[in-house]
Amino acid sequence: MADLLARDGLHFSHARRLWRALHRELVNDFAEGKLPADFLPPLVRWLREHARGSDTHAGYSLDVPTLAAEIPSADGLTSKHLLRLADGQEVETVLMSYPGRYTACVSTQAGCAMGCVFCATGQMGFARHLRPGEIVAQVLHLQRVLRAARSPGLRNLVLMGMGEPLHNYDHVMTALEIITEQRGLNIGPGRISISTVGVVPGILRLAEERRPYNLAVSLHGASEEERSALVPASRRWPLADLIEACRHYAELTGRRIFFEWTLVAGVNDSPDTARRLAALLRGVDAHINLIPLNPTGGFGGSPTEESAVDAFQLALQEAGYPCTVRQRRGIDVAAGCGQLRADKAKRTLTPAAL
Ligand code: SF4
Repeated sequence: MADLLARDGLHFSHARRLWRALHRELVNDFAEGKLPADFLPPLVRWLREHARGSDTHAGYSLDVPTLAAEIPSADGLTSKHLLRLADGQEVETVLMSYPGRYTACVSTQAGCAMGCVFCATGQMGFARHLRPGEIVAQVLHLQRVLRAARSPGLRNLVLMGMGEPLHNYDHVMTALEIITEQRGLNIGPGRISISTVGVVPGILRLAEERRPYNLAVSLHGASEEERSALVPASRRWPLADLIEACRHYAELTGRRIFFEWTLVAGVNDSPDTARRLAALLRGVDAHINLIPLNPTGGFGGSPTEESAVDAFQLALQEAGYPCTVRQRRGIDVAAGCGQLRADKAKRTLTPAAL
């Protein structure tokens, strides 16, 4: 930002002030009369010329997404926000509240190319990568929501919304550098989780670059055949290569890896499968998260019964793996990624402007 403003003759202090306005004060209206009173004339003049629309050619945009829909869950703990970007693409952002903390789940692509069969986003296909600012804008939106409610700000961030983060590696890393900036949103890197379906080159890059974020890898199958049936991307990055990349990541970073496992009744939820999963991960510092399936219209599978979830968890724990069952959040607001956008036409929505 400083370089950009310097090109137009502005001083570093103007960039610093604009940065604080955007990322601390959460200013999203650059109309004259709405600007902070201490903005100096050169910055006001610059904004007068540049704040309308976007200049992606110059590498920035001051566009703010509009809120196309917001659905709170019946228990009030989760709310799903459908944000419309400048080109009309819509992405989902979810705010989850836990005792004493708030977590944001953001999207990194409009649609997704990975095609996981049980996922509403995978069923809709890929539209485009989100730019860094469009990823950051989702976090800023939720911070504004929390501030308006006089709630504490976001503490955790998960990249588990629409899209495969490691398929949009560079933009995601730039966004995270902005989100973790101490003079801005200041979300600690250790409180950020990147969830991947197993993009091996991206995992290797994360390791080589020693990125300080948590890594969650979606497995869903303990053999190549089982996994490919649920995650077509597995044909491109086979399970053996994925586990090898995870070992390499763990060795280089010293970090524990979180493995995600969506439980589909009768497909991948037997204690025997759990034991094969434990054998596959032997030697990897792993924590396994079990996620009962979020049903979607385009997939015939059903969620595993609670007793079978318990048996699966027990088998993993007996094999020595810490294993938790993810609290199911926002089923009534279609909080599985892509579900709100896919269901939008069928629902009664609450349109609003940011
Ligand atoms: S689960 Fe994630 S990676 Fe798979 S299709 Fe859905 S958004 Fe893409």
